[in-house]
Amino acid sequence: MYNITGYYEADTLAEATALLAEKPKLELIAGGTDVLIKMHGKAEDTELFSLRKIKSLEIIRKAEDGTIVIGAMATFARVFKDPIIREMIPILTEAAISMGGPQIRNIATIGGNVCSGATSGDSASSLFALNARLKILNSLGERLVPIQEFYLGPGKVALKPGDILTEIRISPEDYQGFGGHYIKFAMREAMDIATLGVAVTCKLQGNIFDEIRIGLGVAGPTPLRCLEAEEFAKGKDISVETVAEIGKLAVRSTKARTSWRASKEYREHLVEELVQRGLKIALVNAGGAELV
Ligand SMILES: Cc1cc2nc3c(=O)[nH]c(=O)nc-3n(C[C@H](O)[C@H](O)[C@H](O)COP(=O)(O)OP(=O)(O)OC[C@H]3O[C@@H](n4cnc5c(N)ncnc54)[C@H](O)[C@@H]3O)c2cc1C
Repeated sequence: MYNITGYYEADTLAEATALLAEKPKLELIAGGTDVLIKMHGKAEDTELFSLRKIKSLEIIRKAEDGTIVIGAMATFARVFKDPIIREMIPILTEAAISMGGPQIRNIATIGGNVCSGATSGDSASSLFALNARLKILNSLGERLVPIQEFYLGPGKVALKPGDILTEIRISPEDYQGFGGHYIKFAMREAMDIATLGVAVTCKLQGNIFDEIRIGLGVAGPTPLRCLEAEEFAKGKDISVETVAEIGKLAVRSTKARTSWRASKEYREHLVEELVQRGLKIALVNAGGAELV
């Protein structure tokens, strides 16, 4: 059962930040697919504050400077269908359709996914590879936080009481010219949480890697980037050997652990293999030739 002792709503962000300044202990609720599960059976009183009525938070747009701006309350169904995301950052379209089933995607939001702080969150690895920045608002003002600094530990994120995540922003230099691919590895085809999430993007210059980015979920307590492998790839020939070395080096950035879903060793094997598979598809999506 739920011990909900109050329920609040606001129509605008100004009303929302004012209410949170007055009542910082209110628990924010977006789609509720994580927050209600966490609350189930908990004894302490909880007052919920729903962001559902703030329609401006659902908008996905491309700003004049090319930055892609995704409202925190955009559902995964909306992210999946959005034409800007499909055209500019299709890796996020792939991540969105891999998340949950149709009912969950219709209600769960991308902002809630990020704010839950789960390393298994399906948006996380792609947003890491895209260098996403998070716009956070409270009654005192707003700040932009790089996603790599937002995840602090399992279920812990850099939000203070009164903070609202309003937008996820992706700059043009983080997607223009890149091809990408997201692989969700789960123990079954049907709805399941990722055993490993692998997002790879790359930019090519003829037959060399100009830049690659590897974002991983469930390879550590928080999502992470494989910086050693990324650094190694710069300026290297695109070959099966280079891709194999990138897969090996990617494992060095992980902090995988054994859980009931998979052993540490199995996860590391998956990292090495799936980074290679992801990169081979990403490089074709970036305009390169297929590697056989
Ligand atoms: C059946 C089922 C299947 C699932 N499958 C998957 C899956 O395949 N992949 C996956 O990644 N997840 C999965 N999930 C987990 C969950 O659906 C996602 O994490 C979802 O994106 C959470 O979004 P929400 O809008 O429901 O967040 P909520 O539950 O409303 O909120 C989650 C947390 O974020 C905070 N919050 C929400 N929005 C904001 C905001 N704008 N600013 C500040 N704080 C905020 C809330 O206070 C709460 O702490 C599944 C859940 C269920 C129940």
